[in-house]
Amino acid sequence: MIRINDIIDRIVENNPDADVDIVDRAYIFSARVHHGQVRLSGEPYLTHPLEVAYILSDMNLDVVSVAAGLLHDVIEDTHATEDEIREMFGKDVLHCVSGVTKLGKLSFGSAQARQAESIRKMLLAMADDIRVILIKLADRIHNMRTLGFHKKESKKRQISQETLDIYAPIASRLGIYWMKKELEDISFMHLMPDRYAEIERRVSQDRVERENYIETVNDKIREEMEKAGLKCEVMGRYKHFYSIYQKMAKQNLNFEDIYDIIAFRIILGTKYQCYEALGHLHDLWKPIDIKFKDYIGRPKPNMYQSLHTTVIGPKGQRIEIQIRTQEMDKVAKSGIAAHWGYKEDRRMDEDITQRFAWIQNLIENQESFNDPDEFLENVRIDLFPDEVYVFTPNGEIKTLPKGATPVDFAYMIHTEVGSQCIGAKVNRRMVPLKYELQTGDVVEIVTQQNHNPSKDWLGFVRTVKARSRIRQWIKTQDKNRSVSIGREMCEKRFRKHKLNFAELLRSDEMAGVVEQFGFKSVDDLLASIGYGKVTPLQVVRKFQPREEEASEGEAAQPSWLMSRITGRKRPRKPKTGVKVKGHDDILIRFGRCCQPLPGDRITGYITRGHGVTVHQAGCVNALKMNPDRQIDVEWHHEKAETFPVKILILSHDRVGLLADLAANISKNGANIMAANSETRGNNTVESRFTLAVRDTQHLDKVLAAIRKVKTITEARRIKT
Ligand code: MN
Repeated sequence: MIRINDIIDRIVENNPDADVDIVDRAYIFSARVHHGQVRLSGEPYLTHPLEVAYILSDMNLDVVSVAAGLLHDVIEDTHATEDEIREMFGKDVLHCVSGVTKLGKLSFGSAQARQAESIRKMLLAMADDIRVILIKLADRIHNMRTLGFHKKESKKRQISQETLDIYAPIASRLGIYWMKKELEDISFMHLMPDRYAEIERRVSQDRVERENYIETVNDKIREEMEKAGLKCEVMGRYKHFYSIYQKMAKQNLNFEDIYDIIAFRIILGTKYQCYEALGHLHDLWKPIDIKFKDYIGRPKPNMYQSLHTTVIGPKGQRIEIQIRTQEMDKVAKSGIAAHWGYKEDRRMDEDITQRFAWIQNLIENQESFNDPDEFLENVRIDLFPDEVYVFTPNGEIKTLPKGATPVDFAYMIHTEVGSQCIGAKVNRRMVPLKYELQTGDVVEIVTQQNHNPSKDWLGFVRTVKARSRIRQWIKTQDKNRSVSIGREMCEKRFRKHKLNFAELLRSDEMAGVVEQFGFKSVDDLLASIGYGKVTPLQVVRKFQPREEEASEGEAAQPSWLMSRITGRKRPRKPKTGVKVKGHDDILIRFGRCCQPLPGDRITGYITRGHGVTVHQAGCVNALKMNPDRQIDVEWHHEKAETFPVKILILSHDRVGLLADLAANISKNGANIMAANSETRGNNTVESRFTLAVRDTQHLDKVLAAIRKVKTITEARRIKT
């Protein structure tokens, strides 16, 4: 049984300067609060945190990890509070303890193997400190070692399956192979006791023979290395049972057919000796080409380094050999944790981001990896997740980009759910639709039939799907609106000409007219009328060709529009500087009231028969518009294009004032289109200029220059 002194000895052995006081205090506290609790094994509960802490100290982790290991169950299982932990042991220990507690609360149910990868990522994402994961793994190791004390068979199986699906792969990804192997073997034993027993029996059956074989190979390798003047350590051992089982299952082999169940390891002094040793081995025994892997030249993403080769050894048996240095062996044993031990002068209160500095370094130096994509995939995604993992109400995991909202989640479930979403509950509480989802959240969407998406959602959704679905809806909406506006306009116009538009709409003649205008459907024609690209009168003329240009001045069509209708040549797109989202050639005009400039936020207003008028978003006239006729527009101007804007300049009167102003304005690339100055009382001059500028930035530059002119007191943009 592990005692606290074993743990402290282990820590001091690794780092004589370690501050073991915190570990001592954590032990005393843990012993006090767990007092009287008993494990299923009948032992005092305290044995569990002690074992966990010992594993962590053995992995050469810092005192914070070890103390947190001793305290990892106190929040969940005792009356101890987070405040107490913070006060007594500091925020780092608390962070680790509450991290482990949080992970412990997740339950993955059963039959979720297909979600295993998401769950693994989620665990890594939730543990924003790698130490949380290491403590959780140590906890799981000890729980697996004592799993036999569980009475319920189903519980044992469930825990084993979860270990096999989730925790063993995490240990493997972090490069802690001893943990991976142990977790796999114990899970295998509980999940497939017959298979496990069979392999165990077979391995021990001809144990003597095998052990002799191992001895022979060991001696031969040592002899060969000595001959070459290489100092080394050689070990031969059985592969772990689960990997033997996997090999049998995957390749459909019998136990007798598996030769390389023994693996040898050679530890040398330097990297070059490793390659040298490999050369001698390949000279001694014939290598199987495809089985050679150089993880020294190409380390695994988790930093694992080694040469792997399989050769035809004595008696024609295939043997697997790993060759590496002492240092590489240390990394292979504790993986990522090897980099997380004591470092000289390491401060306890280091920022979490700094704790990951070494990973950052690796990312920056990724050219040293032959497959940077794979590397980034493994390290960055896992430890700096830019994804969040949330649950549906029935426990399914969904992966979303960081910053995603309930609306993104709703669209991910189904487009219908997205568009009819009126609210969301996260962990059973109502949240705003723009709430930022957190990993581990349980999300439930409240929907209402016939509810529609809102344009505002575009301001906060993060996923492509949500964005494009919302846009699509708005576009359809816009079109529907212009169709009905177009229809209304036609009805009016047709009535004037004593025609029944509703009736004609269904006639074959109308179909012909639609085609003549070059549209695919009546709706397209109506929409185009609604947008002001085609006038109702032009349509009337198709039905009453005689009655030409009779009634109103509406015949004065822009020439580009006429040429389009007669179909002689494609009209040039009118140059307007603004684009209606989703539509290419709509007639655009600017509101004279507010004179928008590129850079201003703008909005469009569908007029009756004159296309779209563009206003500044905050323009009083725009605010008064019927919201049904409002349409999204965006700037789409060419660099050289200029736009009119009015400015007001106040100054004291003096000789040469106007000349100075004009010189400054033109020096800054703006044209004066109109100017008007008046002298007021108090010797002040009020000047109004209309300038042609490129955009708001340009205007700001001009105004700044004007303000520097002598005696100018004020210069600003004004509305007309
Ligand atoms: Mn525990």
